[in-house]
Amino acid sequence: MERTFAMIKPDGVQRGLTAEILARIQRKGYRVVGLKQFVIPRELAETHYAEHKERPFFGELVTFITSGPVVAIALEGENAILGWRGMMGATNPANAAPGTIRADYATTTGENVTHGSDSPESAERELGLFFKPEELL
Ligand code: ADP
Ligand code: MG
Repeated sequence: MERTFAMIKPDGVQRGLTAEILARIQRKGYRVVGLKQFVIPRELAETHYAEHKERPFFGELVTFITSGPVVAIALEGENAILGWRGMMGATNPANAAPGTIRADYATTTGENVTHGSDSPESAERELGLFFKPEELL
């Protein structure tokens, strides 16, 4: 069993995709062990995306991710980290495999509907940033 951090980004929430994305997660068989909708404070956004702080899109990314409510999700399941990344598809939706969330719903690399941790280390770090231990089942 593995846990990962998933997020529906502000574009996904604003476009009413929350139920569809949660349905995909549950049909896949992952367990939702934490769930909340909130607007990410700027400081948390900068910490979450710290690995990208030297990239030219960093400012735009922080502005976008704090622009409206997100749905933060803690997922549990076998191979959940890579499995959820697979369900999302490639960062650039133009390269995302057919049937993935980004292929089906996103058109730009910046506003690509969902986030998912990319390794066991980032999953642990990101779950810790977004959830208090008592918020996880
Ligand atoms: P992923 O979300 O697939 O793990 P990255 O960690 O590389 O992708 O990037 C984090 C987020 O930063 C992306 O999901 C996207 O929202 C944004 N991003 C990445 N690359 C670009 C880019 N070239 N231009 C604009 N935004 C980008
Ligand atoms: Mg990433």
